[in-house]
Amino acid sequence: MAVVDQLTSQQAIDLENKYGAHNYHPLPVVLSRGEGVYVWDVEGKKYYDFLSAYSAVNQGHCHPRIVDAMTEQAKTLSLTSRAFYNDKLGEYEKFATETFGFDKLLPMNTGAEAVETALKLCRKWAYEVKGIEENNAQIIVCENNFHGRTTTIISFSNDPVARKNFGPFTNGFIKIEYDNLNALEEALEKNKDVAGFLVEPIQGEAGVYVPSEGYLAAAKALCVKHNVLFIADEVQTGIARTGRLLATCGNCSCADKNCSGEPEVKADILILGKALSGGAYPVSAVMANDSIMNVIKPGNHGSTFGGNPIAAAVAVAALGVVKDENLAENAQRLGEIFRKELAAFAETNDLVNSVRGKGLLNAILINDTEESSTAWDICIKLRDNGLLAKPTHGNIIRFAPPLVMNEEQLMDCISIIKNTISEF
Ligand SMILES: *Cc1c(COP(=O)(O)O)cnc(C)c1O
Repeated sequence: MAVVDQLTSQQAIDLENKYGAHNYHPLPVVLSRGEGVYVWDVEGKKYYDFLSAYSAVNQGHCHPRIVDAMTEQAKTLSLTSRAFYNDKLGEYEKFATETFGFDKLLPMNTGAEAVETALKLCRKWAYEVKGIEENNAQIIVCENNFHGRTTTIISFSNDPVARKNFGPFTNGFIKIEYDNLNALEEALEKNKDVAGFLVEPIQGEAGVYVPSEGYLAAAKALCVKHNVLFIADEVQTGIARTGRLLATCGNCSCADKNCSGEPEVKADILILGKALSGGAYPVSAVMANDSIMNVIKPGNHGSTFGGNPIAAAVAVAALGVVKDENLAENAQRLGEIFRKELAAFAETNDLVNSVRGKGLLNAILINDTEESSTAWDICIKLRDNGLLAKPTHGNIIRFAPPLVMNEEQLMDCISIIKNTISEF
């Protein structure tokens, strides 16, 4: 067998540039290995991962329990399609619905697919349960949202880069300002055909915008008042990232020990993805109670890979890790340290305006224009100093390490961040 030489970073980058579509602009670092909070590049340099694949790797890279579940299942049975039953899906559905406090789960693969599923479910419920006239249903969404990349989802994005020359778009969406209850109330009162309100509990991609205290609870109350489904996209905020199992879940029958906050913020439709698999495999899900989910009948919706035995086994292991390793508590505790340290640093450093976030989903605002390259340049220097992060929008840098980080590692990372920014 021929020995394949390890590519250099430059060779790997050149290959992607030549043979791959240019739909991303990656930070120039080529990774070949990951373990826990660390990743290594092809030259062997070690980094702290402060992106966690957009919060998919909450359980840390290559978590042995998740990898074992995946490889065992891959050796046993990988895919049947839903034309037949398999012995893993039902167990996973029971475990996940009990964990999050819903009657039923619909399994998909990617976050965007789960969002699409939620939109279809919401519309069908509107026609068959709420009684809206067919084709009239409206779903309220928020400005600066990020829900994925399908044609329907970008129809209600307001990012020109994501939309330009991809039309015509899907109708049936009303866009309002995020974190604005008056706008929501007005939209609900003006339109009798509203079926749902789709919202991110924290807008991650937009730059980690945390809404005002009480916003989600009040929005949920408005939805209840107008018989409108509250649809929470927790693809990024879910699975312990924000210091609780879910950012919305207040359902005290669920397994989240930290659920003390706003008990009324229970989604009618919950969307999960990313860390549902700990980053090992694409697994997403939509959860709802029977009164909603039962509108879906055989043939209405599906996915060849959705609910496959590997996905089911991986998700059970990934959720087990979150519970058994107390990742929500850890994210909560380390997040407070991170924001306190960075807020104190911002006081003394002109380049950092502020820090914001919840749990271990945080961002710093760089004191420069959105068009400036300062945030990017800082991320390049952070890379040189052994920490990987990426700007979200222009001058915002998101910091979202795996939740298996310990305090000593976090303090080490905080000094890397402070020292790096101080060099500017
Ligand atoms: C990443 C993300 C999605 C899309 O997930 P994909 O798996 O990339 O399709 C949807 N919603 C939110 C909030 C996300 O962060």
